[in-house]
Amino acid sequence: MKIIKILNNNRCSLSFEVFPPKVSTSFEQVKPAIEKIAKLKPSFMSVTYGAGGGTSQYTLDIAQDIRNRYGVPTMAHLTCVSSTRETVAEKIRDLKKAGIQNVMALRGDLTPEMKLSDAKHWDYSHAVDLIRELKESDADFCIGCACYPEVHPESPHQTDDIRYLKEKVDAGCDFMTTQMFFDNNLLYNFLYKIREAGITVPVIPGIMPITKAVQLERAIQLSGSFIPQRFKALVDRFGGDDMAMAQAGIAYATDQIIDLYANGVQNVHLYTMNNPEIARAIQNNISSILGNTGK
Ligand code: FAD
Repeated sequence: MKIIKILNNNRCSLSFEVFPPKVSTSFEQVKPAIEKIAKLKPSFMSVTYGAGGGTSQYTLDIAQDIRNRYGVPTMAHLTCVSSTRETVAEKIRDLKKAGIQNVMALRGDLTPEMKLSDAKHWDYSHAVDLIRELKESDADFCIGCACYPEVHPESPHQTDDIRYLKEKVDAGCDFMTTQMFFDNNLLYNFLYKIREAGITVPVIPGIMPITKAVQLERAIQLSGSFIPQRFKALVDRFGGDDMAMAQAGIAYATDQIIDLYANGVQNVHLYTMNNPEIARAIQNNISSILGNTGK
């Protein structure tokens, strides 16, 4: 099923992101967790694409497996920055052959050796190039792209970021998923600005439950997210107690999600970090809210 159909059905829904193993030897360790997550029957699941594409075949295998065995619609992520036209064409053929209908089209992070000033020598410098290629293929994909309520770290200004976002939508992107954020007001402000800029496609907020104090450091490094005082206080108080921190982190994420639904969001995407217990706990916390149509 195409994700855009799920987004247009006017019901509160929850989807999950999982990631493939970083090295091929750990596939068997990752698989049971992903299966447990699929058994929770989210609205859809997305499978990330390993940076640099090292274990990229698993993205496709996992997405196909979840859909075939658990009947959960899936989306495969695909990055382009370190790829050639030939490898991307091959990936598109593989996705089509596997019957994957939803693709998250991304540029991918630059490695330390990559300089933006060299981009003219690359086959792909931005996600928009990949979106155009997916759109031109004969596969009729439903295409998602990434967006950044707190601005992409490389962007000099949010105005530029939003201009390029509009370019992605105009190229054929059907919906967007956000980078994690910990203050919903940042999302509401971002939504206001992109709607003003004429971007009308659905936006799926991405929520990352922080259940360990060390996770917070990594999350900030990765996304540069603003951490509200309310959340800092929670980590200060419970960070040293694993059980208490997990409970507090799940409660914080649940609170964020309920506020998003109350303010008109249809589908929230949960960054599960391949942890079925956390996915299940949050899904249970909102079990009577899921499916609500607001009428
Ligand atoms: P782009 O849209 O190309 O944007 C990158 C930067 O370039 C931005 O600053 C933008 O403003 C600017 N820009 C865009 N278009 C132009 C243009 N035409 N000219 C000049 N500047 C331009 N990474 C992975 O490796 N695998 C994954 O599976 C993965 N999944 C993700 C899922 C989500 C929801 C998010 C938010 C991120 C994900 N990432 C993933 C990380 C992502 O690859 C990085 O954030 C990357 O740095 C940017 O990717 P993008 O697709 O947003 O790039």
